[in-house]
Amino acid sequence: MLITVKDIPITGKHYTCQIREKDLEMDLKFLKPVLFDGTAYKSSDDIRLCGHITTCIEVSCHRCLEAFPLELSADFEVYYRPYPTQAEISDDSELSLGELGVMHYEENVIDLAVVTRDTIIVEMPMKLLCKEDCLGLCPHCGENHNKKQCNCHEEHNISNPFKAFFKQTAM
Ligand SMILES: [Zn+2]
Ligand SMILES: [Zn+2]
Repeated sequence: MLITVKDIPITGKHYTCQIREKDLEMDLKFLKPVLFDGTAYKSSDDIRLCGHITTCIEVSCHRCLEAFPLELSADFEVYYRPYPTQAEISDDSELSLGELGVMHYEENVIDLAVVTRDTIIVEMPMKLLCKEDCLGLCPHCGENHNKKQCNCHEEHNISNPFKAFFKQTAM
């Protein structure tokens, strides 16, 4: 969804909408609609956009590889400025430094799908676990230990020469 900068009043404008998955261009499986709820404020040509994104996506657990739903609920705050003209870029070499963290809009429009995508990327946890205490997969037979215990652990211990060694020294 695109918002038109000139339509934003001084008092700000509230936007609630569903962002279409195809506009996000993300390789994710969405289990719930991607909902955008935000307000845009304007000060001359500068725009401040803040709000909240909610959705639910399907991800794979890093330990057991099972797919599970991940609820996402994230706040965002971004600043936009018109795209600098070529003259402005070459005039002021410090511009690029000062512009860090500021997005640019072109043709008087801001695409809400872009800020939504960025927010989802930032919000994604580095470590995805289906549950805090996920037991993961057996490194020997691949059994999912959340579902079933295998016998590899015992066999592994029996064949562990150090265990026999410690047993002997204990006696
Ligand atoms: Zn897991
Ligand atoms: Zn096993």
